[in-house]
Amino acid sequence: MKHLRTLLAVTVAMTFLLGVSVALRPVELQPTATTHCNEAVLTAASGTVSSSSCDGALASRVSGLLDSSVRDVADILDISWVRRVDVVVPASDTELVSLVGPAFADMAGVAIRDGSGQRVIINRVRASTLSDVELSVLLRHEITHVATRDLTTDSAPLWLVEGFADWVAFHGTGLSLRQAAPLLKSDVSALPVDFGGSGRDLAYQQAYSIMVYLQSRLGERGVVDFFLRHASLSAVDAGVIDVAGWREFLKTSIG
Ligand SMILES: [Zn+2]
Repeated sequence: MKHLRTLLAVTVAMTFLLGVSVALRPVELQPTATTHCNEAVLTAASGTVSSSSCDGALASRVSGLLDSSVRDVADILDISWVRRVDVVVPASDTELVSLVGPAFADMAGVAIRDGSGQRVIINRVRASTLSDVELSVLLRHEITHVATRDLTTDSAPLWLVEGFADWVAFHGTGLSLRQAAPLLKSDVSALPVDFGGSGRDLAYQQAYSIMVYLQSRLGERGVVDFFLRHASLSAVDAGVIDVAGWREFLKTSIG
């Protein structure tokens, strides 16, 4: 599970959209022999998966999980959205970088919005090692970004945007907080802000735990309402989260 969380912790959407710079990590994609690969598009009820025909296995898995992933997100989010998503599995590192930018090429998945609309970009090297459960979590995380993008201001804090996407993604998996956030420690003293540096993985897990804490106080519906209420604001007061209460919750939950 640590393997899963490490991969999932590097799924970023809004940071790219917001233009936040993050540390550039080496891109480890292997070159693809494109001369024998054609573009392939798989169609599901809830969207499409575009890929190279040479990555058909991963594209088929993503396509097979797409409808349930969209439905899972829609079931939690009581909002109006298109309830469909187009996924792209770039065939090469060049294509990947052209879509998400060099700073995000090591992410397992990135939700983008450009002239072609909103799409989820999947890093085929990162994603191909994921189990179906892990891949579903990744898809739900990115689909949550797609579904809520129009409701989210550019200034929404990342602990809120990423924490909520993870909370939706892990909803219903039955994983404990410790299992979903193995790096987490209970001695928190401030809301996470380092979503682009060396503390990135921990920041994601702390953000997720804030949502789990809110769920313990507000219930599931309350978490959704909290997100929708605050993600649309031009500024969110850090005091909206009772850090001492969050810390006590973590001490009780993970020791
Ligand atoms: Zn994200």
